Amino acid sequence: MNSRPEPRVATLRRCVKAVLRFALPLLALAAVFLLAQVDEESFRKQREGMVRTQLAGWRWGAEAVRDARVLEAARQVPRHRFVPAALLPDAYEDRPLPIGYGQTISQPYIVAKMTELVEPRKDHRALEIGTGSGYQAALLSRLVANVYTMEIIEPLGVTARERLAALGYRNVDVRVGDGYYGWPEKAPFDCIVVTAAANHIPPPLIEQLKPGGRMVIPVGNPFQTQRLLLVTKGSKSPRDIRVQDIMPVRFVPLAGGSSGQ
Ligand code: SAH
Repeated sequence: MNSRPEPRVATLRRCVKAVLRFALPLLALAAVFLLAQVDEESFRKQREGMVRTQLAGWRWGAEAVRDARVLEAARQVPRHRFVPAALLPDAYEDRPLPIGYGQTISQPYIVAKMTELVEPRKDHRALEIGTGSGYQAALLSRLVANVYTMEIIEPLGVTARERLAALGYRNVDVRVGDGYYGWPEKAPFDCIVVTAAANHIPPPLIEQLKPGGRMVIPVGNPFQTQRLLLVTKGSKSPRDIRVQDIMPVRFVPLAGGSSGQ
């Protein structure tokens, strides 16, 4: 008498099991994917706001970033992928953020301003000293042919290299070493961006700058406010340089061998 409903019950059970085994995990995956999309869209909006207000907007005592290519690069580089997970909500704030080992990812405005000051072009070769998170290198890489970036703290350099590769920045080379001496094998450079404060302009970096090349570097007492200097190299002699004082800045110190710290 009970024999007829049993196959139906069994079929129902099989269906429920199949749903649990395949459909539910698929639904969960779809939900995770959708949530990630919502997150990315929210980060894109935050990035847009950062460009409009912090970079291109009016700032007290500092000039806005005007170079449309630099602004576009800042719109594209996902800054939230360069900050520690715990600081994700702060990724687009108008300030530097800690990245471990006592170091920081610079404030978005400063990164963009320094990039604009070296006037990057598509055929340029750029050197950065102080890879840190890799964010400045990523921004530069959208504007020049090749970026060579040096980091003195090995774990930071290794993480930045992996991060940049994962994000598809293929024209960036990261080297762990003391950037005071530059990267002579890849010199000369059209642009040099130094993102740690020295108490003098390292002579090897001047030597590795092309005639007509531009370098930005914070110079001054490492534990106080420094001056951001723009160094332009002339073609009359290897020491033919012009130095412009741009603005006060605060950077972590340039460490290493002859950096004077
Ligand atoms: N440009 C980075 C922020 C740099 S913070 C970014 O976009 O995230 C400054 C970095 O310079 C730190 O990571 C610090 O370890 C590094 N640094 C300090 N002295 C250095 C040196 N002599 N050579 C290379 N890197 C150095």
